[in-house]
Amino acid sequence: MRNPKLKDLIYNEERPVQERLFVLIVAIMSVSLAIIVVTNILTGASLGDVVILIALVVILAAVAAASIRKKRIKSGARIISALMIFVMLPFSFFSGGGILGGPPIWFVLSALFVGLIMEGRVKLFFLFLNLIVAGICYALAYTFPTLIHTNTTLGSYIESYVALGFISLSVGAMVSFAVRLYQQESSRSEQQRKKIEALSEAQNRFFSSMSHEIRTPINTIIGLNEMILREDVSEEVAEDAANIKAASSMLLHLINDILDMSKLESGNMRLTPVAYHTGDMISDLANMFWNRAREKGLEFKVNVGPEVPAELIGDDMRIRQVLVNVLNNAVKYTVEGSVTFSIQCGTRRDDELVIIYTVADTGIGIKKESIPFLFTAFRRVDEDRNRHIEGTGLGLSIVKQLVDLMGGSITVNSVYTMGSTFIIEIPQRAASAELLGTLDLETRQKSSRTAYRARFEAPEANVLVVDDNTSNLLVASKLLRATKVRLDTASSGEEALRMTLEKPYHVIFMDHMMPKMDGVECHRRIRAQTGGQCREAKIVALTANADAESRALYEREGFDGCLIKPIEGAALEKELQHQLPAELVRASAAEEDVLEESVAWIQTSRRKRLVAISTESTADLPQTLLDRYEVAVIPHLVATENGVFRDVIDVESGGILSYIEKTGGSVRTLEPNVSAHEAFFAGQLARANDIVHIALSPKIGKSGFHAAQEAAAAFNNVTVIDSGHISSGQGLQVLEACRMAEEGRTPDEISAQLARTRELVQTSFIVDNLDALARAGQVKSSLARVVKSLSLHPVLRIRDGGLNVERLCFGSHRRAWKIYIRRTFSSISEVDIGVLFITYAGVSAQDLRWIREQVEAYIQFDKVYFQKAAPSVSTNCGANCFGLTFRMKRSER
Ligand code: ADP
Repeated sequence: MRNPKLKDLIYNEERPVQERLFVLIVAIMSVSLAIIVVTNILTGASLGDVVILIALVVILAAVAAASIRKKRIKSGARIISALMIFVMLPFSFFSGGGILGGPPIWFVLSALFVGLIMEGRVKLFFLFLNLIVAGICYALAYTFPTLIHTNTTLGSYIESYVALGFISLSVGAMVSFAVRLYQQESSRSEQQRKKIEALSEAQNRFFSSMSHEIRTPINTIIGLNEMILREDVSEEVAEDAANIKAASSMLLHLINDILDMSKLESGNMRLTPVAYHTGDMISDLANMFWNRAREKGLEFKVNVGPEVPAELIGDDMRIRQVLVNVLNNAVKYTVEGSVTFSIQCGTRRDDELVIIYTVADTGIGIKKESIPFLFTAFRRVDEDRNRHIEGTGLGLSIVKQLVDLMGGSITVNSVYTMGSTFIIEIPQRAASAELLGTLDLETRQKSSRTAYRARFEAPEANVLVVDDNTSNLLVASKLLRATKVRLDTASSGEEALRMTLEKPYHVIFMDHMMPKMDGVECHRRIRAQTGGQCREAKIVALTANADAESRALYEREGFDGCLIKPIEGAALEKELQHQLPAELVRASAAEEDVLEESVAWIQTSRRKRLVAISTESTADLPQTLLDRYEVAVIPHLVATENGVFRDVIDVESGGILSYIEKTGGSVRTLEPNVSAHEAFFAGQLARANDIVHIALSPKIGKSGFHAAQEAAAAFNNVTVIDSGHISSGQGLQVLEACRMAEEGRTPDEISAQLARTRELVQTSFIVDNLDALARAGQVKSSLARVVKSLSLHPVLRIRDGGLNVERLCFGSHRRAWKIYIRRTFSSISEVDIGVLFITYAGVSAQDLRWIREQVEAYIQFDKVYFQKAAPSVSTNCGANCFGLTFRMKRSER
C-alpha cells in the first residue's frame, strides 16, 4: 500500500515540483538512515548510537509526513534541515569516525537537500549554516581527537562505502527526476506551441475570411448607393443616400479598425515596405482632408519641407492609415480655426532618415491628465464633452502600435481648450536622391452633390470583370456604365478563360478569392493561354483583401494594378483610365471642368522648424540677432508704483533708471510664472516641433527657471536649459543653441553642448556701487554701505551660475574701468576673439567709445556688439555700469 502512495506523491504532475522533490529526498534519506542503522549494528556500534539513529529516522519520517499532510513543505524542509545540520551531521561525524569515515559525505548530502528544496535567502542561510557546523566539527575533531569514536578500519570502510552509496543514490535519483521533469515540460510546451500556432492560424483564417465576407456586402451597399447618388433623384432620396454612404463608410472603418487591432494584438501585423511617391501620398491626404475641413468651415494648411525625398521606401498604406486617423481626429475635434499638416525630413542616429509628420489643430485640446490614456484601446478621453462626437477610442491605439511597429514615435502636445499637436516620426529610406522641392498641390475633389459626370469615355474599349459574386459584378458594371466601355462579366475563373480565348480585352478586373480557380491562378493561365487573346491585356486585381501582403503578392505575380473593395466609383474610373490605351480614351468635359476649377491652395514656403530656441528678456541680445535666429523671448515684468510693465517691450533701461533717480521710487522685477511660461511654450510649439528654452541661472533668478521647468512638464517637447548666466552671457548661450539648431542638432545634443560652454562664457560687470544689488537682495546692504562710503567700484563676475564680487577698484570711473578692462583681458591668448558684448546701463555714448578704444588696445574682436541692458538687468546693477561678455577657448579650471 505504501509504495503506490509514495510513487503517487513523487510522480503526480499536479503536485508542485518542490513538494515532489521533497518527498523524493526525504524518502531516500529515510531508507539510507535505515541502512545506516543496520550497518551500525553490524559494525558493532554502541546501543546508544543505534537508539539515537532509530529515533532520528522516526522523527524525520514524522516531520515529513506532517508537513506533506498539512501542505507546509517549506516549514518541514526547514525543520529537517535544522535537524540534519545541528543533530544528525554532528552526531554521525563524531560517532562515525570523523573525516576517516562517511561523515564528510553527509555534509554534501545536506547541502544538496538545502540547495534543491529551499529558495532565496533561506537557502543561502542554511547552506552557510551547514558550512559553519561542518567547520566546527572539523576544528573540534582536530583539537580534541578523543571526541571521535574511532572506527575499526573495516568499520571506516563500510561507513564510507554506505555514505558514498547513499549520495550516489540521491544524486542519481535527483538527476533522473530532473531529466524526467525537463522532458515532461518540453513535451508540454511543444504541445502548447502547436496549440497556439493552430489557434493563431485559425484566427488568421477567421479574420481574413471575415474581412472578405463583410467587405463584399458593404461593397454592394456602397456601390449601388453611389449609383443612386449619381442619378437625378429628389433631395430627400439624395439625402438618404448620402446618409447610407456615411454610415457604410463608418461601418467599413470600424471593421478595419477591429481587424487591425486583432492583428496587432496577435502579432500578425506585417509591414510591407515599398517605394512610393511622397508627393502622391501628400496630395491624396491633402485632397481628402481639405474637403472635410472646408465642409466644417475650417482652414486646412499644408507645409511641406522641400528637403523631403521625392520617393521613399516604407509601408505607405500603414503610414497613410496613421495619418488619416490623426488628421481625421484633428478635423473631428476642431470646431473653429484651422488644421495644419506639416511634413519634414530629419535625421536620427547613424544618419537614418526620419520623416516627421505634424498635425496641429486649434480644437478642443486634451486635458493634461488624459494624455497618458490617449493611446489606450477603447478608451475615449473626456467622454462627457465628446459624447456627441462619433468614435470608438480605437484609432489612436492602432496608430501608436503601427508607429511602434515601424520603429517610429508619436508624441502629443496639447493645451486644453486651445488645440493639440500630434508629432509622428517614422524612419524611412530615400528611394532616390531626388527631393520633393516645391510641391504644387491641387484639389480635384467635388462635393458629392454636384451632378456626376464620368471622367472619361471609351466606347471602343473592351473590359472584362471577373467575380464569383453577382452583386459585385452588378456594382462594377453599373459604376462603369457612364464611361460607355464595352463591358462583359464572368462569374468564375473557368468562364473568364473561355471568354479570353474569344475576345481581346484591353483591361480585365479580376477578383482574387473565387471557388475552384482563384484570381491569381486565372491570371497566370490567361497570360500563358495558348491561342488566348488577352495574354498582353492589363489585369487588375479586384480584392477584398486590404493587407500589404496581398498587395505584394499581386505585384510579384505580375498584375498591372490592384483595387481594394469596396470600390469607389471614382477610383475604379481612374484605374481604368490609367490602364486603357490612351488612343481609346476621351477625357470628358466633366474632367476638364474639374481641372479648371482646381485651386492651388498650398504654400510650401513657411516651413515648421524642427527645433526653435527661446529665452528670457534678461538675455540682452540685439534685436538683429533675435530676428536672424527667430528667437522667441518671454519678458520679465518690471513693477513700479505706476504699474507693471513688460521688460524691454513696454519699458527700456534708460527710462527706468531715470525714474529711480528722479523719484527714488522702488522698482521690482518679477520673473514669469508657470502659467505665463505655459502659454508662451504653447504658442512656440506652433512654429516648431521642439522648443529649447535657455533660462536665466536659477542662482541669480529666484523662481523663473523652476517655473519654466514646471510648465515644460506639461509638454513633451520643451527642454529647459539653465544657461548658468545672466545678460549677454545668457545671450551667448542662446546663440550657441541657435547655431546648433540650425545644424539640425537635437535638444539633448544642444543641452549637452551648453553644459560644456557654460564654463567658457565669461560674464562680468563693473558697477558704480552695490546699492541696486542690495535692494534686489543679491548682496548684503551692510557691504553696499561700506562700498559706497569708500567710493569703491565693485567688479561682479558669474561663477558656477552665481553672482560674486570679484574685486573692488578704487578711484574715478575711468580709472576703475581701465583696471577692470585690463584684468579682464589678462590672459589674451585664451580668449575666443569671435564675439564681444559690451552690455551697458546708464553709460554715455562718449564713454562707450572710450571703453571700446580701451578694449581694442588689448584685443581685436571679430565682432563687437554694444547692447543696452534690459530693465530687468539694469535695475539690479544701477547706472554707470557695463559688462564685457565673451567666450574663452577652454575652461579656466
Ligand atoms: P475616437 O474614435 O474616440 O476618436 P481615438 O483613439 O482616435 O478615438 O482618440 C482617443 C481620444 O483622444 C478621443 O476620444 C478624443 O477624446 C481624444 N483626441 C484624439 N485626437 C484629438 C484631438 N486632435 N483633439 C482633441 N482630442 C483628441
